[in-house]
Amino acid sequence: MAGKTYIVEHLDDELGPWSELEYLTIAKESHEAGANFCLTSIPSALALPEALKAAPGFTADGKSVEEIYAEQKARVCLLDPAASKGLSPEDGDNFDIFLFGGILGDDPPRDRTSELRKKGYENRRLGPKQMTTDTAVRVTRLIVQGKTPLEKIDYIDDPELRVNKNESTEMPFRYVKGEDGKPIMPEGMVELIKKDTEKGFGDLF
Ligand code: SAM
Repeated sequence: MAGKTYIVEHLDDELGPWSELEYLTIAKESHEAGANFCLTSIPSALALPEALKAAPGFTADGKSVEEIYAEQKARVCLLDPAASKGLSPEDGDNFDIFLFGGILGDDPPRDRTSELRKKGYENRRLGPKQMTTDTAVRVTRLIVQGKTPLEKIDYIDDPELRVNKNESTEMPFRYVKGEDGKPIMPEGMVELIKKDTEKGFGDLF
């Protein structure tokens, strides 16, 4: 089947620094893997960060996935934490467009993926645990392009990040385990989490 396209339908009103780092990483990894990445449903009033616009492999569209692929729904597979079937390497032979919710993770999950589910796409699950959007795209790529079964991928759940010598914070998500044994996160994310967490601690005093 033709090259793969990973689509993230942006569902939040804003596009903050966390989303920016996630989307930059998805653009970079998709580009390196010979796949396309498109961020859809971008309101015209939303100014995209310059770094993102300049990233190789990044494209954005004001239209929704529903409008873009109106006549080609069967090509689209929605990655959905509530799907009954798990994503398998064979799904890479049947679909070439993989759709994700552009939502920051929340704890407990609010099931905003339902906004895409009600559009009636075939859907697949990536296991029982909530992943960040960039992790979900990474795992999908490993399965449909790398042909690695979901259960053969090494994960790290709920990693704890040390913010300073007294405090640490737990990230309530599933990540892919990197070659260095650490969870794979977008470049700059650990620093951003530390900065935001310290700000949070600061507000307590
Ligand atoms: N709390 C969320 C919600 O409201 O649905 C989950 C959002 S998750 C951070 C962003 C996107 O990654 C989801 O919309 C979905 O496309 C994908 N995703 C994350 N974990 C997944 C899983 N276990 N199975 C399938 N897709 C997943």
